Amino acid sequence: MAYHHWAIGLFLLHIFYNNLCNCQSENYFDDSAPSPRSYTPDVGLLDFVYHNHDDMTRFLRTTSARYPNLTALYSIGKSIQGRDLWVIVVSSSPYEHMIGKPDVKYIANIHGNEAVGKELMLHLVQYFVTSYNTDPYIKWLLDNTRIHILPSLNPDGYAVSKEGTCDGGQGRYNARGFDLNRNFPDYFKQNTKREQPETDAVKEWISKIQFVLSGSLHGGALVASYPYDNTPNSMFQSYSSQPSLTPDDDVFKHLSLTYANNHAKMSRGVACKSATPSFENGITNGAAWYPLTGGMQDYNYVWYGCMEVTLEVSCCKFPPAHELRKYWEDNQLSLVKFLAEAHRGVQGFVMDTNGAPIERASLKIKGRDVGFQSTKYGEFWRILLPGIYKLEVFADGYAPREIDFMVIEQHPTLLNVTLQASKRNDGPYNNYRPVSAAQQHYRPQPEREQGFLSSISSGFNSLVSNIFG
Ligand SMILES: [Zn+2]
Repeated sequence: MAYHHWAIGLFLLHIFYNNLCNCQSENYFDDSAPSPRSYTPDVGLLDFVYHNHDDMTRFLRTTSARYPNLTALYSIGKSIQGRDLWVIVVSSSPYEHMIGKPDVKYIANIHGNEAVGKELMLHLVQYFVTSYNTDPYIKWLLDNTRIHILPSLNPDGYAVSKEGTCDGGQGRYNARGFDLNRNFPDYFKQNTKREQPETDAVKEWISKIQFVLSGSLHGGALVASYPYDNTPNSMFQSYSSQPSLTPDDDVFKHLSLTYANNHAKMSRGVACKSATPSFENGITNGAAWYPLTGGMQDYNYVWYGCMEVTLEVSCCKFPPAHELRKYWEDNQLSLVKFLAEAHRGVQGFVMDTNGAPIERASLKIKGRDVGFQSTKYGEFWRILLPGIYKLEVFADGYAPREIDFMVIEQHPTLLNVTLQASKRNDGPYNNYRPVSAAQQHYRPQPEREQGFLSSISSGFNSLVSNIFG
């Protein structure tokens, strides 16, 4: 009975999807693609000033009340000092996931004293809601994407930060002194830092929503930095800063370049100061810049297959408010074009022979050994550049499958996968899970190997990370 329901539902989805595909063939990814129209912010609605937590809360509440069909406000938890970790969804379906369409996110102000990203997020919300009816590009984006925006993950740190302070660590940490971007489980090394409520809230959040693409906004540099942030163990890793590349390096480079190239100046790769590095084309591999343990982007990618890039948007961490308009103008197009990249690659449904969705099927692009899973609706997404690929699909109780497919530039490839039930044991693939793969990769080091060298390197790391973003 339930299966029949699903079969009909998926059949309708199928028809709907094929139509969607046709309308997407109007092409959002090449030179002839429509672009966002010019936009002049209305400072009467949202001024270029810094918003403390109460001001920010008021803006988010007012906006969600004024645009109930385009926004929804929720909190993923509270900071140590009890401030809500607000998320505002902007989409033509703000309250419900759109089956078959990607959810994406931005998270800003993870380091409380890196304040520009937080204000950019508020202006991005304002831009989206006021442009939906007048800008076909924004309408397309919001009709086909659910955009979750968390303007401040570290409101307690923000509360003790000072406008005009470009460098340093005052306000960087949460109220217990923890760096939230060193507080996630790590792919390469054991993270011994005590879990914090802010990071726990993010972990819970991303375990419930399958985010396809994410940007993590920071300040203190001008660069798009992509996984991995950490490297396999090596005694002098902190000094060597070797690249640590993912199997999706082509995609991460492309996503980072999308941000840098649409930014007013990031792609020029000019160093913030003479003592800081310059970045070719305004992008860098995270570990090639400086390795770190417990970062958010590696966690998103390895555990959930979410492509997250760290966006360092200002040389000065907390510049004077009169510069905010300029920062918005520099980043506006990047912020939009980056999110649109969620519509590149392959997407589809995994289902059984009755058309019922298969949840938590494990998927992998052959040759790219970081996997991902299907949602409870059987959906999956993977951002890929144009080319020919093989998709590997495994699910408990089903025969594994490999499917060849092609990705083109103009629109995502739709690929529905039907799995045949299997009574026999199909071998090790039955146990394949991205998460357990990560756990296998991580090898705790014996105590004696973590001697003074590691304390020197961690000291060096915190020094470096206080200089940069
Ligand atoms: Zn930062």
